[in-house]
Amino acid sequence: MNRLIRSLALSISSNALAIHSAQAESRHAGAHVHGVNQLQIVQQGRELSVTFSLPTEQLRAVHEQHEEQDYDEHEHEHESASQSLAHEIGDRLKALREYQQLFSASEINTQCTLTNYHFELHSVVTGKDDPHAGHKDAILEYQFNCSDDLTLSAIEINAFKEFDDLERVDFEGLIGGVGVTASIVPDNPRVEL
Ligand SMILES: [Zn+2]
Repeated sequence: MNRLIRSLALSISSNALAIHSAQAESRHAGAHVHGVNQLQIVQQGRELSVTFSLPTEQLRAVHEQHEEQDYDEHEHEHESASQSLAHEIGDRLKALREYQQLFSASEINTQCTLTNYHFELHSVVTGKDDPHAGHKDAILEYQFNCSDDLTLSAIEINAFKEFDDLERVDFEGLIGGVGVTASIVPDNPRVEL
């Protein structure tokens, strides 16, 4: 009897682990697609949390455009060029604290204050021959404190103006407990809430 319970418990916990790791993998695989970014907005009372995810290669494309204009860069060794790239991507991510480069909403501009911004880099897990080996996703998190009567009417995606290669933003919102999902494209860079 004891042994049965023990083996049952073991089988339940290993299933839970399998489900958990499958979700983690699919979430990560879904996140890293060049040309596709994710925007998640959760509003609960005065608190507004926004998460924007993008592959860092998207920032690199901007870097390479700049590099074409800057001939001095080509004199550097390969390693210092890649260090300067990492440095420039870091600077670019810091500058994205100015969230209007990525998204905006008139109500956020007038009724909310940005109280915290931070970003993380997540390595894409692949084999070393995979074309995405060494690539990273940047996860940008914004916290806003808003007025009590905040009612978001629409979100504009400004990232399409910033990144020529961006083809789609997958939007997920949870606004006062109501879920909204949308696939946003450059022709109509806006989601109505
Ligand atoms: Zn990649």
